[in-house]
Formats: sequence, C-alpha cells, structure tokens
Amino acid sequence: MAKSATKKSEQSAKPQAFQAEVGKLLHMMVHSVYSDRDVFLRELISNASDALDKLRYEAIANPGLLENDAKLEITLMPDKAAKTLTISDGGVGMSADELSDNLGIIAKSGTQAFVEKIKDAPSLIGQFGVGFYAAFMVASKVEVFSRKAGSNDGHVWTSDGEGTFTVAPAADLSRGTKIVLHLRDDASDYLEDWKLEEVVRSYSDHIAHPIMLQGEGDARQINSASAIWMRSKSEVTAEQHKEFFGILSHSAEAPALTIHYRAEGRQEYNVLLYVPGERPFDLYDPERKGKQKLYVKRVFIADDAALLPPYLRFVRGVIDSADMPLNLSREMLQNNPDVAVIRKAVTNRVLSEFKKCAETEPETFKKIWTVFGPVIKEGLYEDYERRDQLFEVARFSTTTRENITLKDYIADLKENQTAIYYLTAEDPNKAKSSPQLEGYKSRDVEVLLLTDPVDSFWVRTALGFDGKPFKSVAQGTADLDLIEAKDQPDASKADEPAAANLVSAFKEVLGARVSDVRISKRLTDSAVCLVNDGQMDRTLEKLLSRQADSGVAVSAPVLEINAGHDLIKALAKLAQNKGASSVDDAAHLLLDQAFMLEGEVVAEPNDFAKRLAKVMITAFG
Ligand code: ADP
Repeated sequence: MAKSATKKSEQSAKPQAFQAEVGKLLHMMVHSVYSDRDVFLRELISNASDALDKLRYEAIANPGLLENDAKLEITLMPDKAAKTLTISDGGVGMSADELSDNLGIIAKSGTQAFVEKIKDAPSLIGQFGVGFYAAFMVASKVEVFSRKAGSNDGHVWTSDGEGTFTVAPAADLSRGTKIVLHLRDDASDYLEDWKLEEVVRSYSDHIAHPIMLQGEGDARQINSASAIWMRSKSEVTAEQHKEFFGILSHSAEAPALTIHYRAEGRQEYNVLLYVPGERPFDLYDPERKGKQKLYVKRVFIADDAALLPPYLRFVRGVIDSADMPLNLSREMLQNNPDVAVIRKAVTNRVLSEFKKCAETEPETFKKIWTVFGPVIKEGLYEDYERRDQLFEVARFSTTTRENITLKDYIADLKENQTAIYYLTAEDPNKAKSSPQLEGYKSRDVEVLLLTDPVDSFWVRTALGFDGKPFKSVAQGTADLDLIEAKDQPDASKADEPAAANLVSAFKEVLGARVSDVRISKRLTDSAVCLVNDGQMDRTLEKLLSRQADSGVAVSAPVLEINAGHDLIKALAKLAQNKGASSVDDAAHLLLDQAFMLEGEVVAEPNDFAKRLAKVMITAFG
C-alpha cells in the first residue's frame, strides 16, 4: 500500500458500514418503484461538474494540479457487452478517506428528517435529490475509481448498496473520478446512445462543461455547455429555466419566480436567481445558509458567499461577476467590498421583484408568501435598513380579510383609530376566536392575526407603519374608548361597586396565579380573558420559555373580567351577600377557562375536575 495511505485506507479492503440513514436510503433506492429514474444521471453529472469546477478553482492558485491536462470534461461511456455505464470526469477526485467519508454518509444536515420524509413519499426522491446514492436506482453494483488531483495514489470504492462498502487501492488511474455502474437488467435503456442523449438534453444541457458521449461512433459532445446565466433574458425559454433550476435544486418542479438580469455600472455581473414553488426540506436548518453560487467570469468560486441575507436563503441561483479577480480567496469573500456592493444591489433587486410579482401576478406571489413568508419576515427584525421594503411585500391575515398588505390595513382604519392592532397566537385556527378580540370586533376594528413564531419577535421592535404604531390587543385598551362600538359590553347594567368587590375577592383567592384582576373593556361575549402587562407578549413568553437558554419563564397573567356578563353579575352579587369564600371555586374555574381559551393546558387538571364537579352538583344535585 502507498505510504500516504491513512488509517482508514489501511483497513481498506475490509467492508465498512454505511451511516444508518444511508443504509435506509439505499434500501429505498434499490427497491424503489420510483418511476423517474433518469434523475440518477443528472445527480452524477452534477457531481462531476462540481468536481471540475473545484479543480478549476484550485488550479488558479496551484496550476500544477492540472497535470498538463487542462481539458475539463465529463464522459459517458456505455458498454453493452459488460452492461455497464461509466461516467468519468477529470475533476478534483477524492482520496481514500474522502471516498469513505463522502460516499458513506449523507453530508446534508437534517438527514434523519429527510430520510423519514422520503420513506413516506418515495415520489419526492426526485424533489429532494439524493445525490450520488441515486446511482443505486439503476445499478446493482457501483464502483467509484478516483485519484485526487495532485496525488499519485488511486482508490476504488465498491458497493452493492446493501449495507457496506469497501475502499481499496487502484493503480493507473487518470486524474479525477470514474464511476462504473453495473446496470440492473431493467435499466439496460441507459446503454443506448439515444437514451443518454435524451436524458442529458432534458436535465443537464446547461452544465457548463462539455459532456461527451463515447458510444457507438466517435466521442461527441451532447450538451450545449453554455452557461445559461450569461445569455440574454429573451434567449432563455421557461423550459430551459426549469431544467437549470432542477439542477440547482434537485427539483422536478418549475421555479415560482425567475429573476434574470445583467447589472452594469460600477460592478458588472450576471444574475440568475430562482424562487422555488415548494418548501425545501432544509428551509429551517439552523445554519440558515444561502444557496447562491458565486462565479467570476464563469469560473465557480463558492456557494457560500452569503450573496443574499439569511432571510432570503431559499432563493437559488448564480451570480457571475465580470470584474472580480479570479484569485479571490473564499476566506476573503465575507469582507470583500466588491461582494458587498453586489450583495446590497441584488438583495434590493430581489425585494423589488417580489413587489412587482405581488402586483402583477398576485396568485404567484401568494404561493411564494405562503411558503416563504415566515422566513422573509425574519428580515423585519434583522434587516432594519430594508424594513419598509419588506413591509411593502408582507402579507397578513386579519380578523376580516386574508392576504392583505399593511397599506390595505391602513386604508381601512376606523375613525379615531390610532394604531395597527394585532393579536399574536400560536395556533392560526384558534386565533380568530380569541376573547381578546371581542372589543375590537364589536367596533369593527380589523386586527392582524400574527401566528408565525417569527411575528412575536419582529412586531416588538417594529416602530410602526405609515406613522401608526403596532399595538397588541393584549395590552392596555384606553384608546378603544375613542372608537364607537356597535354593541358595547353591557357595563351600564353592571353594579360597579359589586364588580369592584368581586375583583378584590378574585385577587385574594387567586393569589400568585395572576398578577392582577381587572374589569375589562375588551370583552363583549366572554366572561373572562387573559392579558399581559409586562414587556413581553404572552405568545413570545411561551416561545422563549421553550428555549433552554433564554432564561424566560411565562409570567402570571392579568385576568380580565367582563362586568356586564350575566355570570360575573351573579358572582358579584354572591360575593357581596355571602363573602369572598363562596366564589373561590368560580374564580379558579374561570381562570382555568381563560387559560384554555388561550390554547393552554390547565395547570392542575385534578383541582379543575374537582371544582367543576362541585359546581355541577350544586347546579344539578
Ligand atoms: P452532494 O453532491 O449533494 O454533496 P453527493 O452524495 O452527491 O452529495 O456527494 C457527496 C460528496 O461526494 C460530494 O459533496 C463530493 O464531495 C463527493 N463527490 C461525489 N461525486 C464526486 C466526483 N465525481 N468527484 C469528486 N467528488 C465527488
């Protein structure tokens, strides 16, 4: 064995086990009934193309890596006699360790979740893209011969996809990677020139490197190999965009929105970006990494240059600069002023394209907002500079309307309404029936229903819109008095001293369970509701209290009672005649009920059941 061999390759010929998730995935591949098997070729060609890109990039600093063979192409070689299809590239290649690391695990985060998802819906395989492992959809055995650029030692990775693989030394390899697929009998189509040509044309035409077919005749190029993003907008068809988007995102769907333009001026660059129509499985990956590739003069530089802010991480595509130096190191990208200029301009452009789309194709934008709205809204507290731009595209549900803008909301303000009212809640279905909304409904005041977790965060820091502050319906209600109500809570009929007496009785009985008890102005139908006095909204407190390191606990709420409600009137009377203790059970039951209306569980279900039984016995016994 070669002296550079490392620990792992010393045990080379011994079978190594796949990571558990890969095992599961492979099992699904081997036994897949998945019909769209053509995607395996797209995945392997896309890996080969990445390997060529990486080599070209590394060779800028280290031209020796090209070994006097600067031809960067991909070759497909079907062999009918041997029933194999070979895909080779002259790219960076892999060492023995890289072979077993890269082709033994799934490097993507969220692997487990992803495998589970595919298990339930195998037809999603194409959409998720399983990369290299897709080879096992058509092959009963796969051999990967590879020699890393700059190294003399070659290796071969072999597996039949049934739990283990081996890595062993291999002699006389040319630079790069050669994948030999031993095709299953039902996959012999992929030995035919016409079939390979058809698949390449429909999935990989725009791979920027030549794809050569070494079939029955002489080797010939079967893709156009022109970078799609360098062409002018009018030259590219929707079908070609779908194809390129498919390569970038492993998706079989067309993008929801395509942004394609050439910027000229201080910086010249081509931009081709896509907004997917469906939720990528890693949308909420904690790393929040962008998916935009940076090229310089058609040479791939990096796919982690953070060309768009994290709240636009789902936008896929390519930005190709005409002026930046090719030897731009990846480490320097973060602070590079040219990159910063591009970053700023492209971000603004994406937001203005959103706005345009919302105006000219509202249905398309609605779809985009439904999937990505909760992510875009992260920008409302992260990207202070663009908050107004984001407010222009943000869509909201309210107590009376769906999919409206803040401008729409403002246009419909009631007379004397001084704020934009909102309710935060965790459950969109329950939000609409929150008792806190009653006083607003009775005044025909529209309330924004903010039910994405991110809403609780941005709304606290937002200064307002169009001169109107945001105001939670769970905060003070003094300003509600200024707006005329249709059906005012029947406080007139309430006996005020009796109600005040009940409030103090409740306070005494409930003790630390509440921070205060008050007569409500916001209730018309319900007897009670919870509000929060503190800095934080209750929904936010709940969200934060679930994060181990937040140090936030859910505080005791304020209980508001509806003095005009028959039950409260009756209790007020009772408390006056018989003293506080007679309303003990009612106080606790009403508080528990208020918690339930908030979608929370009752803290002490036993006490609740006992009290309820007692009250029912009095009523029915
Ligand atoms: P992905 O391409 O999404 O990372 P894959 O499972 O397709 O996932 O490939 C895993 C890794 O294996 C790649 O990231 C790359 O490092 C390596 N790899 C795959 N094919 C090649 C190839 N032809 N040449 C060099 N490296 C490759």
